[in-house]
Amino acid sequence: NSWWSAVQMGPPDAILGVTEAFKRDTNPKKINLGVGAYRDDNGKPFILPSVQKAEEIMAKKALDKEYAPISGPADFCKLSIELALGENSEELKAGLNATVQGISGTGSLRVGGAFLSSFFPGNKEVYLPAPSWGNHTPIFKHSGLNVKSYRYYDPKTCGLDFQGALDDISKIPERSTILLHACAHNPTGVDPTSEQWQEMSALIKKKNLFPYFDMAYQGFASGSVDKDAFAVRLFVRDGHQIALAQSYAKNMGLYGERAGAFSLITSSKEEADRTLSQLKILIRPMYSNPPIHGARIVSTILSTPELRSEWLGDVKEMADRIISIRSKLRSTLENLGSKRNWQHITDQIGMFCFTGMNAEQSTRLSNDFSIYLTKDGRISMAGVTTKNVEYLAHGINEVTK
Ligand code: PLP
Repeated sequence: NSWWSAVQMGPPDAILGVTEAFKRDTNPKKINLGVGAYRDDNGKPFILPSVQKAEEIMAKKALDKEYAPISGPADFCKLSIELALGENSEELKAGLNATVQGISGTGSLRVGGAFLSSFFPGNKEVYLPAPSWGNHTPIFKHSGLNVKSYRYYDPKTCGLDFQGALDDISKIPERSTILLHACAHNPTGVDPTSEQWQEMSALIKKKNLFPYFDMAYQGFASGSVDKDAFAVRLFVRDGHQIALAQSYAKNMGLYGERAGAFSLITSSKEEADRTLSQLKILIRPMYSNPPIHGARIVSTILSTPELRSEWLGDVKEMADRIISIRSKLRSTLENLGSKRNWQHITDQIGMFCFTGMNAEQSTRLSNDFSIYLTKDGRISMAGVTTKNVEYLAHGINEVTK
């Protein structure tokens, strides 16, 4: 006779479940490769020095805690879209962007989903790469959109199924939405080359599809924010009117601060104003206005030249550590005499590595070696350090013999 007696227990979150199992394990050699958060070479969370300095500057100003505007602070929105498209973007000079602050990447994607659900004039269907980040499907379904997929990852090569992607994209009904990971594809770590992006842009244009970019790792993949924005800038230059979700969780280490942005690139300033007005009307009943602290950190860093260049160095340091630990993992596996080809470990990029291990091997790695990862064989490279890489390689070698 409770209101809630019919509510069933839901399944635990797949990734948080990995962390729970890790916490219960008492093996001192245990490793958690489930979480998508950067760790330093001592396995500790990393507060970016540029972020610390921004907070010191902010503290001295004794800023008030008034509400932000519905769409977030104007300087934050401007600096964010400039970071994505580049400061010299013609589209930005012409005022073609409608940009709002979102609750990090997830909230930005969700606001975009709500906007498409209400206003997209074509098919209310979003095509995701297979596989995609586990939260994409629920985000878009929750927004009232249908979710479908196109081929992306090739398990045979642990690389891109480029022909499969082109074949599937060419069959997507015209006027549908296609979701693209701008860089550092999660969960596979597999990105198209610049030539492949050019071909995809041309095909997506020809098919009259609407490209929605998720850029959760700008700078985190290659170490350069400009290089990582290649695909987004290419599509805009090719004349696509893109949608874009950005996150500062990874590239500024602002995970819990929830700073991100959603933008539409429109065909005129007047259209940007109209779409922005509707974005605000959608946001108001969801959460009124976004959190201020993270957005202030972002604005302080991006608008203070010395801090900005220090931050670019911090991002590069994180990306470089991941790139170098990838090489170390691969060479250690090769030196152990593994018969498998591990080239994909260094070909893949960003936070994650799709190792190619199956569910049984992944489970054995957890049960026999206390190395925790998701059953799809994805490991977070951020959890690998110079101290645990040999133990990890040993475990992987044993379960893949
Ligand atoms: N998109 C992708 C592909 C991601 O991997 C993530 C985080 O893991 C996000 C979006 C959003 O993260 P957040 O909401 O923490 O910014």
